[in-house]
Amino acid sequence: MGQDSAFAYEAIALGVDDVLVSLHGPDARLHDFLVARPGAFYQVIKTIGNVLKAGASCRINTVISALNYPFLRDIAALVYNCGVKEINYIYFSPLDDALDAPGELWVKYSATAPFVKEMIEEYKDKFKTISIKVIPFCFLDGYEDYITNFFQNIYDPYEWDFYQRVRIRRGILQRDLAVLFGFLFFMDIRRIFKIGWRKSLYESIMHVQAFRECIKIRACRRCKFDLICPGLWKAYAKRFGTSEIKAVYGEKIKDLDRVVRKRFLDYYTG
Ligand code: SF4
Repeated sequence: MGQDSAFAYEAIALGVDDVLVSLHGPDARLHDFLVARPGAFYQVIKTIGNVLKAGASCRINTVISALNYPFLRDIAALVYNCGVKEINYIYFSPLDDALDAPGELWVKYSATAPFVKEMIEEYKDKFKTISIKVIPFCFLDGYEDYITNFFQNIYDPYEWDFYQRVRIRRGILQRDLAVLFGFLFFMDIRRIFKIGWRKSLYESIMHVQAFRECIKIRACRRCKFDLICPGLWKAYAKRFGTSEIKAVYGEKIKDLDRVVRKRFLDYYTG
């Protein structure tokens, strides 16, 4: 929206107060290649500038792939220097139409993890929020407070409403069947009273998604993240196997939202 600064001002005057922009490379060469659109990088940078100048907040989404993972720090540097305070690095989710993504974009979690950690160390005190999305917790042990996975989404104040997203992508019938299945097989009645109806609907769907799309290995049962982690995507395991998984032993973390609440403390403490 914001390549045109007049439009950015108009949108913000009409009530837009937060803009999420996708940036997948630290320079025009890589970003334009990944989005298959020459000139896109400069449009994105211009948009960020216009949005911030017009007074809205701007957040960045970067999808981690085999082509950009060595440059996560460079992307953070660019974004930070543009004046943005919140950045999301999102792991590729092999789901729906994303399953058709070219094979050369797939990358192992274990290959990317050192670059993610390095980026966090350098930028954790600079950005207001850094979120690493959809990676099993064991790959970033010690950095779990930066992770959002299936069960944490609903506690991330900026995340989409996945209950509605499933309705849009799969239809009402499939969504409601998923909820029913989730309630019958995964949800405890005490949990519904504890977290409320709305969150229960969402959580039941996430249990079904984890059941359908993800796998765990035997060692996961003893992992401290077992109760808050959906496991590894089945499609990922089919491509790379499960040998990368290294369970982290210790007292089990039970609160699905703990890692997210720490990250968005301002939001939760008002
Ligand atoms: S439960 Fe399994 S996949 Fe999840 S963090 Fe633990 S070892 Fe990794």
